[in-house]
Amino acid sequence: MVVGDFAIELDTVVIGAGPGGYVAAIRAAEMGQKVAVIERKYVGGVCLNVGCIPSKALITAGHRYLEAKHSEVFGVNTGEVSLDFAKTQEWKQIQVVDKLTNGVRYLFKKHQIELIEGEAFFVDEHTLRVIHSDGAQTYSFNNAILATGSRPVEIPGFKFEGNVVDSTGALNFTEVPRRFVVIGGGVIGSELGMAYGRLGSEVTILEGTDRILGPFDKDMGDLVVKELEKMNIKIVTNARAEQAEQIGNEVKVKYSVDGLEHEIIADKVLVAVGRKPNTDELGLDILDLAIDERGFVEINEKCQTSVPNIYAIGDIVQGPALAHKASYEGKIAAEAIAGHNVAIDYKALPAVAYTDPEIATTGISLSEAQNDDQLFATKFSLTANGRALSLNETDGFVRLICTKEDKRVVGAQVAGPGASDLISELTLAIECGLDAEDLALTIHPHPSLSEAIMDCAEAATGFPIHI
Ligand code: FAD
Ligand code: NAD
Repeated sequence: MVVGDFAIELDTVVIGAGPGGYVAAIRAAEMGQKVAVIERKYVGGVCLNVGCIPSKALITAGHRYLEAKHSEVFGVNTGEVSLDFAKTQEWKQIQVVDKLTNGVRYLFKKHQIELIEGEAFFVDEHTLRVIHSDGAQTYSFNNAILATGSRPVEIPGFKFEGNVVDSTGALNFTEVPRRFVVIGGGVIGSELGMAYGRLGSEVTILEGTDRILGPFDKDMGDLVVKELEKMNIKIVTNARAEQAEQIGNEVKVKYSVDGLEHEIIADKVLVAVGRKPNTDELGLDILDLAIDERGFVEINEKCQTSVPNIYAIGDIVQGPALAHKASYEGKIAAEAIAGHNVAIDYKALPAVAYTDPEIATTGISLSEAQNDDQLFATKFSLTANGRALSLNETDGFVRLICTKEDKRVVGAQVAGPGASDLISELTLAIECGLDAEDLALTIHPHPSLSEAIMDCAEAATGFPIHI
């Protein structure tokens, strides 16, 4: 008998072990389902291996390096500071990425989740074929959760080869490029552009629209631009990237602005102009599964697709490509399969850019609030916050968006140190339907950055102390 002739039966199968898939698998196991996860390359997905986590590790290394070099303002003078980038990369991989991805493998074992390492293709709505390193196997299943994530978009003239790289390539440089050109001033371009800028690269960002970090409110993007300029990072907006030509070890990048042609020479070029869903390599066309014109799987409020026993989550469905959104949807899908009465609700979905300063938003943005005369915004600057002053980081603010009728918090933005953590208090406030007075009457520790939330809330109630 040839191995693979008979289908192995599974209950719930999850395709993809990223923050969507691995979380869905654990929750499904907790709900009593017999679960298997199929993963072709990265246990932990893009996020843990070549996304959120390693990028934050490089950002930290950049901060440490710059602080070691320049802390004179605190009276701290150092001698010559050097960077051992091989050691930085080793730390990032072994102490950060490997620890987390091994943790996911451990959690699979703990929950008796079978990990099948291979690439999945659909045969029909109850059958999958998995190709792995030493053959293939057919599996039948009751329910499937698709969590296959996304990959970088390639643009004409900038093939990912040689010194023209995607974000994965840029995270794995063996040395800090002397001249680094970034195409796309979105989250990846701004985060990695700044990280390499701190590590010593001469950075140029070519952005196609009129400003970087477009999805964030303009006043937040402006704070990041101010810092980029301080770091001598060049930002070219309205830039049309035309072509990259590798000449020896260098790359000549041609671009145009308002019809005028320009050239710039780089040692490395990162193209970060967005990502597209991995829905075209799975054999989904065999199924009667609704996919929109951009390749996103259509789902209902339970993350269920048009094929009732197949669910989809994370970067392959509509909405921002964020790890915490993928995990949230994973839990909804697993609980829906278990028969729970659950539904997705995005009224407070935080998003953070780990730039300098960090910028974070949740719920309604300022630009949305400006189009709604039932809402008002209150802003509190970190220049009046003692903790921010003691950190020497006062560029930033907290903003609340509240309803005029009852001052209920429906949106918030934070720019400045710790914004990625501070935004959670505000996300919880929206989630719990709190009003400005609830935040103002909550005792916050002193001195802390979180006091800026209380101060902003007091201002929203009309009784500010520190304004
Ligand atoms: P993924 O993490 O992409 O996982 C999908 C998995 O499915 C992959 O491991 C893939 O190998 C596997 N797979 C695909 N097809 C098959 C198949 N046919 N068979 C078997 N396996 C398959 N988000 C944040 O929220 N915060 C951040 O700070 C952040 N930083 C980022 C930095 C970078 C450089 C990048 C690139 C992304 C970042 N993101 C961040 C986005 C985040 O990584 C994604 O939103 C998140 O990983 C999506 O999770 P997912 O589970 O949908 O997919
Ligand atoms: P992005 O959509 O954030 O930004 C792409 C940028 O490239 C935009 O500003 C766009 O105007 C610009 N652009 C597009 N085509 C261009 C061209 N031809 N020439 C010049 N500029 C061009 O995409 P990204 O930075 O690749 O990141 C992908 C996704 O990954 C993000 O949308 C985000 O959801 C996720 N991510 C999140 C984080 C985080 O949460 N901190 C970090 C990194 C990535």
